[in-house]
Amino acid sequence: MTSPIAYFNGQLVPVDQISISPLDRGFLFGDGVYEVIPVYEGVPLRAREHFERLQRSMDEIQLANPHTVDEWIGIVEKLLARHPGNQSVYIHVTRGVPAKRDHALPKGLPPTVMLMCFPLASPSKEAIENGVACVTARDFRWEKCHVKSISLLGNVLARQLSAEVGATETIMFRNGFLTEASASNVFVVKNGVVAAPPQDNLILLGITYDLLTRLAAEGAVKLEIRPVPEAEVRSADEVWLTSSTKEVLAVTTLDGKPVGSGKPGPVFKRMHALFQEHKAKLARRGTVAA
Ligand code: PMP
Repeated sequence: MTSPIAYFNGQLVPVDQISISPLDRGFLFGDGVYEVIPVYEGVPLRAREHFERLQRSMDEIQLANPHTVDEWIGIVEKLLARHPGNQSVYIHVTRGVPAKRDHALPKGLPPTVMLMCFPLASPSKEAIENGVACVTARDFRWEKCHVKSISLLGNVLARQLSAEVGATETIMFRNGFLTEASASNVFVVKNGVVAAPPQDNLILLGITYDLLTRLAAEGAVKLEIRPVPEAEVRSADEVWLTSSTKEVLAVTTLDGKPVGSGKPGPVFKRMHALFQEHKAKLARRGTVAA
């Protein structure tokens, strides 16, 4: 099988021909940031918002952005010309390759830039219709969870807790309040009203989270952004996960106990329909800028 094509430091090259220096700060320190953009039939969903978040992540770690948003979108388009259909585009930027290993930030080093495509694995019909299982854990990650950092060990170890019991995600609490899941944001519903945690340093501001809040407003779904106590998650009528690859998914068991009726609820169904309509509209317009 031929190797898929990636973008590496200015060139399109087969993935298996890329070599990374052991001194790369991404390799040594996890010193870098990333993005994942879902692409439906060649149309990236909210590419501009993803690159704006990349800029915010880079600002937070004092890494100069080598490209404007328009340049980034141009690179994504080049890559997509080689990978038709539904894809997820992975964008990875590290602080480059210094002469020696030293924690302090080097000055003036060109970053390492790599983009790859993977076939987009959208949720199965079964997961949409029946929901998924999740477990819970204390949020033991750092206090800059709003940075989409490639240092993902906290998220990896959190995810493993659910993987070990065959569950889809690990939903986390910090000091008695909901934060997010290992690779998703979390929403809860009680008496028809949706709630989601504030967009602070303790969660990643998901592009899907943001889209959902807009679609809820347009669709007259009541939604509150506020701290969500752990007890409220455990007694919710509905719990949802959102992410660029999961879209919006109902959580129907939490730590082995049913959530609400144990089936995806009516507010989830409405939100899922609004999300699918939005995707279909974008595909018709064929735009990357929406
Ligand atoms: N939180 C974390 C920790 C994540 O890794 C992700 C997935 N990137 C999300 C939330 C959801 O973000 P998005 O909707 O932008 O994919």
